[in-house]
Amino acid sequence: MQWETVIGLEVHVQLATRSKIFSGASTAFGAEPNTQACAVDLGLPGVLPVLNEQAVAMAVQFGLAVHADIAEVSVFDRKNYFYPDLPKGYQTSQMYHPIVGPGDVEITLEDGSTKRIRIHHAHLEEDAGKSLHEDFHGMTGIDLNRAGTPLLEIVSEPDMRSAKEAAAYLKAIHSIVTYLGISDGNMAEGSMRCDVNVSVRPKGQEAFGTRAEIKNVNSFRFVERAIAFEVERQIELIEDGGSVVQETRLFDPDRDETRSMRTKEEANDYRYFPCPDLLPVVLDQAYLDHLRGQLPELPADKRERFQNELGLSAYDANVISASRDMAEFFEAVHSECGDAKQAANWVQGELSGALNRENLSIANSPISARQLGELISRVLDDTINGKAAKEVFQALWNGQGESADEVIDAKGLKQVTDTGAIEAMIDQVIADSPAQVAQYCDSEPEKRGKMIGYFVGQVMKASRGTANPQQVNGLLKEKLDALL
Ligand code: ADP
Ligand code: MG
Repeated sequence: MQWETVIGLEVHVQLATRSKIFSGASTAFGAEPNTQACAVDLGLPGVLPVLNEQAVAMAVQFGLAVHADIAEVSVFDRKNYFYPDLPKGYQTSQMYHPIVGPGDVEITLEDGSTKRIRIHHAHLEEDAGKSLHEDFHGMTGIDLNRAGTPLLEIVSEPDMRSAKEAAAYLKAIHSIVTYLGISDGNMAEGSMRCDVNVSVRPKGQEAFGTRAEIKNVNSFRFVERAIAFEVERQIELIEDGGSVVQETRLFDPDRDETRSMRTKEEANDYRYFPCPDLLPVVLDQAYLDHLRGQLPELPADKRERFQNELGLSAYDANVISASRDMAEFFEAVHSECGDAKQAANWVQGELSGALNRENLSIANSPISARQLGELISRVLDDTINGKAAKEVFQALWNGQGESADEVIDAKGLKQVTDTGAIEAMIDQVIADSPAQVAQYCDSEPEKRGKMIGYFVGQVMKASRGTANPQQVNGLLKEKLDALL
């Protein structure tokens, strides 16, 4: 039997407001436990929440970026449940009238093909505190700093058909929220978490199978692994005559498996009702127009422009546009050197490699876009060859010089293209290598091409890497063949 996987994601994005969604307490990450939750976040008697306008603006900007309908009127509801990290006894969320209605996101797969994933809605809510299990033997610690932090929960339609598509969707959401600057997107710090809904159905069947919801998966890689495990578990279960139960499961990255947490609760378990302390949010057209006017160029538009106007491949355009910082760095390099393909190669190759090795983000690159652009220009105008370019790159990276030109001068890396100078070096190498010359002359003609490498190496060495390699090759061949 052939099975098809069906996946829907609920992504929680922590919005980058300075204060909480309903109070003035700070949202900064990493503070001492329980120093950043105020009376409102704790729901102490007599307090009243006040909605943070910035959170509303951010939710709307997300909605506009995914071509969604923005609700003219949205309403906060109380979702009632008991848990130690929720002292209020309810989470303020939006159940029936979310701020962002249906929209869609384009995802790009590894082969460069694209697919539209529909967004069911996105709603605003507050985060709860955090239970800390590790440092307390036989007890659980509670840190309420996170209570009241604004979240945007983005709920997709069940439109994904593979773990790869789910990861690509999550990356697309990550790109959009970081381009918009509405979240830092830091998954390691929990700024983006997702619940993964997975079901399987026989290929060709229209009705969906029963799904399991895997809670709180917090990296792109874990999303793929959790789905892979879960799909296999469900198929095996069904093929053995069992059936999938609708439940909430937890992904354990150490064991690479999902485990049952609890059976799925229904909406009516939560006794949702409109929060009597908060007014409905009413947005008018002028406000939406104002926010629309502030939208930056979004990743999908950049990708298209890089492909259509700058001639980058679908792959390059996708990788470079995925991060706003990288895209902007690339654009600055390109405007300096004028060659998009070379700019893309250097940004994705030498630069990304060096950044990864030293665990630096592109925003903190020791070499500026301007410096890199100038360096590429010197390769393009034949001032230096490719080998010297890498040396210049390293020197600029290490701060040994302000500009490519300065390094080229200081290190004497200017490419030697003067035929006379190259010929002199070649004559010297030939004179110094009688044995290799004899071997060359005795070889079969088809083997000589390979043997020439030795002489090229010697000449390049003699020129300290500065000779033009194409010229060296051509002239060497002429001179050696004249000796045959
Ligand atoms: P709930 O309200 O119980 O969380 P929803 O119907 O809102 O359930 O769906 C939650 C998420 O689960 C959505 O992202 C949706 O796309 C996804 N989903 C729904 N049905 C399925 C299914 N059969 N298989 C996989 N995902 C599903
Ligand atoms: Mg849900």
